[in-house]
Amino acid sequence: MTPPALRQLLTSASIAGFRVYRGEIIGRATWEPVLDEATWRAVRGKLEASKAKPRRSARRYLLVSFIFCDSCGQAMHGAWLRTRGKSWYRCNREPDNRDRCGSMSIQVDPADRYVTGELFSHLAKQDIAAPDDEHAGDRDRILTALAALDQQRGEWMASRDAGQLNLGEFLAAKVKFDGAQQELERDLAELPVPLRKFDPDDLREAWPEMTLDERRQVMRDWIEKIVIGPQQTQPTLADVAAKAGVSLTAAYYALLRNGIYRGGGKVKPDIVSRVRDAAEEIGYVHQPGGGVRCVADSSRISITWRR
Ligand SMILES: [Zn+2]
Repeated sequence: MTPPALRQLLTSASIAGFRVYRGEIIGRATWEPVLDEATWRAVRGKLEASKAKPRRSARRYLLVSFIFCDSCGQAMHGAWLRTRGKSWYRCNREPDNRDRCGSMSIQVDPADRYVTGELFSHLAKQDIAAPDDEHAGDRDRILTALAALDQQRGEWMASRDAGQLNLGEFLAAKVKFDGAQQELERDLAELPVPLRKFDPDDLREAWPEMTLDERRQVMRDWIEKIVIGPQQTQPTLADVAAKAGVSLTAAYYALLRNGIYRGGGKVKPDIVSRVRDAAEEIGYVHQPGGGVRCVADSSRISITWRR
């Protein structure tokens, strides 16, 4: 189990016998709690406190040091822009870096979401072997010893039942068996749990609980570089009108109202066909609702994988 998965398990309310719906405790569960409430609250308090430590360093953005501008090749920085009300990755001219073109920016949230999504899909295609279990030999040895001890204990119980042991012998043997068992179990508990084969869904689940540094570590393992290219702007209706040499109004009724004006009059057929040809030629696609495109589509962000 990864540390984030363990954190998630220990802080989940269901482990303390609560029923949870969409992150809210909605009552007592019907199952027996694994941890009593006081212990659970103490554990959760500790974990939350460790997580809540302020991490105000230069690296507060997931993609910084991975993300580069396609126009000038320089590294992009993250910044909160008060004027635009959001965080952006920017290729911004600064006193310490005058090589930047200063013309590229992309919103942090959609860019992070896009890259994270691509990372998960990339990992889903990999066959990542389980790490070597260097403690397998020790674990086998202890388990074999425990099995042997169980057998001896069985024989001893049989002798006791057969009345072959007096009370003193019985107690001496019991202390010996119990001590040996405790020692073996302690040794076993000290061995690290073997890691199972990597499952991308584990990472997807753990991701929300992971710190920025942990996420960046995963990205470092897989992502060489992310290049942000210029936004590809969609042709607008105004572009169509300009191309066809007609007014915006004519282009609108010709293309989007079947060539019929609001009052019932018709746009001249040659204008309709000119507008349609122009639209086809420049690749105009009508997008209801203004046609605002996601800033993080794949044509703007290209990821180079390490493996
Ligand atoms: Zn640039």
